[in-house]
Amino acid sequence: MKINAHYRQLEESYLFSTIAQKAAAYQQEHPQARLIRMGIGDVTRPLSQHVIDAFRAGVEEQGKVETFHGYGPEQGYPFLREAVQGYYRSFGVELELDDIFISDGAKSDVGNILDLFDRDNLVLIPDPVYPVYRDTNQMAGRTITYLNANKENGFLPLPDRTQRADLIYLCSPNNPTGAAYSREQLAEWVAYAREQQAVLLFDAAYEAFVQEDLPRSIFEIEGAETCAVEFCSLSKTAGFTGTRCGYTVVPSALMRDGMSLRKMWLRRQTTKFNGVSYPVQRAAAAVFTEEGLRECRRSLRVYQSNARRISDTLEELDIWHVGGKNSPYIWMECPGGRSSWEFFDDLLERAQVLGTPGSGFGRNGEGFFRLTAFGTPEDTAEAMERFRAVYGR
Ligand code: PLP
Repeated sequence: MKINAHYRQLEESYLFSTIAQKAAAYQQEHPQARLIRMGIGDVTRPLSQHVIDAFRAGVEEQGKVETFHGYGPEQGYPFLREAVQGYYRSFGVELELDDIFISDGAKSDVGNILDLFDRDNLVLIPDPVYPVYRDTNQMAGRTITYLNANKENGFLPLPDRTQRADLIYLCSPNNPTGAAYSREQLAEWVAYAREQQAVLLFDAAYEAFVQEDLPRSIFEIEGAETCAVEFCSLSKTAGFTGTRCGYTVVPSALMRDGMSLRKMWLRRQTTKFNGVSYPVQRAAAAVFTEEGLRECRRSLRVYQSNARRISDTLEELDIWHVGGKNSPYIWMECPGGRSSWEFFDDLLERAQVLGTPGSGFGRNGEGFFRLTAFGTPEDTAEAMERFRAVYGR
């Protein structure tokens, strides 16, 4: 028996446990202090009423012999896949129904898709990054090349045409930086992926936050259907982080080595996955109705308005940052040339505000800091007042 020794090479992530320890230690020393948490990566607003009604009706159906559902269709119920298809159509993307796969969220599919690819593929991943892309490839022992996202390129790196790549990860709007690619920039990535005969793994988990005229799907870009897979989720769109539902699009035009990736993914999913529960799929379908979308936008507006407040405050204080306009994340440069952890300590000590050190997301995150807009409007406003008091001149 040999274990998968690649697990030995995985870096232990102490990021969130260290933050929790430091916060607890500070609170113990300063019992009167009211800490404001701006590092939350989870939504805080509940599911909307329309979604709850559909969820409940789905549960009731499971309790009656006439309406009971056992195993569902392999790619998800047609009512939900049609709803996702209609949603994409609303921003101008025409998808084939068979290309849509319902999942229990983006994280599992982002990791599981690697079953389709040989270990020897060259992987290109931006740095800083959502750590799942890196860790899932390391678990399989793949060689990773990092792509520098930095202040100079606005944390939106473009392809280096001389670099080889087989699997390319992009996340837009990005976690942790909040930066979002334009159409022209994504067209460069699609052209590069096609030249390389690579597969572009596009994470659109934050597409619902896009407000400006920027792409919400890689399939808005011509030619993407021959080189890209898209992962999306209702986690941030509709507050499904604890309810679990997402969707992955694998176009039928995506072929490599004479094989259809869509057919391979179907084979993979039918072998290792038995679908999302019926009531959750009913709840998810309710998100895409007129009423459901209206209610979701109400919650999104709260986060978007928090993000704008953070971004405006940093602007006023002349602190360099990206994100916030089309994303719940704001990525700021640490004032006074501090390292990410020095700024974490300073902010906790002087403002009693908690955020996330950028160095926890990769080498290029050093000297940067992530703030999130998932708190309440009251806490966000108070945190920004404290920022002004401490970092204003
Ligand atoms: N992709 C990115 C970039 C994320 O930040 C997250 C969650 O934080 C996910 C995917 C996971 O989403 P889900 O809850 O659908 O698994």
